[in-house]
Amino acid sequence: MRIVDIRETEVALKSSLRNAVFDFGEMTTSVVAVITDVVRSGKPVAGFAFNSTGRYACGAQMRARFIPRILKAPPESLINAAGDNLDPEKILACMMQREKPGGHTERSVAVGTIEVAVWDAVAKIADQPLHRVLAERYNGGKVADSVRCYVGGGWYEPGKGLKELQDEIRAQLDQGYTTMKIKVGGASIPEDVARVEAALEVVGSGRNLAVDANAGFDRQRALAYAQVLAPYDLRWFEEPTDPLDYALLAEVAAIYEAPIGTGENLFSTRDVENLVRFGGLRADRDIIQTDVPQSYGIVQFSRTLAMLESRGWGRRSLFPHGGNQMTLAIVGGFGLGGCEAYPGVFGVFAGFADDARVENGRLKLPDRPGIGFEAQAGLYEIMRRLTDGV
Ligand code: MG
Repeated sequence: MRIVDIRETEVALKSSLRNAVFDFGEMTTSVVAVITDVVRSGKPVAGFAFNSTGRYACGAQMRARFIPRILKAPPESLINAAGDNLDPEKILACMMQREKPGGHTERSVAVGTIEVAVWDAVAKIADQPLHRVLAERYNGGKVADSVRCYVGGGWYEPGKGLKELQDEIRAQLDQGYTTMKIKVGGASIPEDVARVEAALEVVGSGRNLAVDANAGFDRQRALAYAQVLAPYDLRWFEEPTDPLDYALLAEVAAIYEAPIGTGENLFSTRDVENLVRFGGLRADRDIIQTDVPQSYGIVQFSRTLAMLESRGWGRRSLFPHGGNQMTLAIVGGFGLGGCEAYPGVFGVFAGFADDARVENGRLKLPDRPGIGFEAQAGLYEIMRRLTDGV
């Protein structure tokens, strides 16, 4: 059993959306195929992944270092002890040879995307959905059948006013979602307060509304928003500060009693450990949102989770960034708090299986081998093309 090739391609997101800090006009993502010599239904098994959203494609690092390291390694050094499947932990270690500590984002997205594609292959070789494989390995065999799912939306768009924002939220509630997250920080405080109040009119309660500032605030604005948002008792206030400014985050937490969410822009176990040690966060209510394919992948995520649990955090406090099927499998497999969704946003990279249905804010976990990209026609077409000629 061996990996015969790893292929990647860069795809443009083609989005006109904007958050408090930047627009997505140039955004790209890397799509990866890990091709094995294992044959299922007459075809070689290939695992797929893409690098979530919000970080650019990273094919250069993959081509220069991580793909060659895997392809050069003796095949038997990358398989499990039973010899019946690939071993993601060994493959991660292989990619991390001769890598200096620190400086994580230069490589964590490239490594994590390949690693998640390896897991897709592992689950297909085992003929199991990925969430089931993960539940058996990392959650005492507790296999879930659905996960909580909220909508990350409420973007700033040209010509979008309060009415359009309300229409957007209403359309999501009609789809079966119950909780909505909207952007803040891309307008003045009075305008954003009006957006929050307009959103609350539709979702009914602060417990069903989160806001996301995308780490765009300086100290003065972070504290000002904390003050004006506090009375609404929102589900969470996301990224009120620069992701690495733990001292300012602690200042915000000291005056903002409702939950805070952060972590999608932290890419290592150590960065998350520093966040919970120094960021003033509270394990009884705050939300941690690392993006698994962007931060070295699933094996490393299991180490981050072990660190968090040793510091008193529970799995339900984790809502990983990235509204896609990879995150869905990870949330279900590890038994985490919930999953994000971006219905209708980010083109083929948004959302879940084409036949996925949300009911009362919960999304059913797919019952197909692997991550299930095969049930997402637009995205799978890009992935499948990577295996042409195999
Ligand atoms: Mg966010």
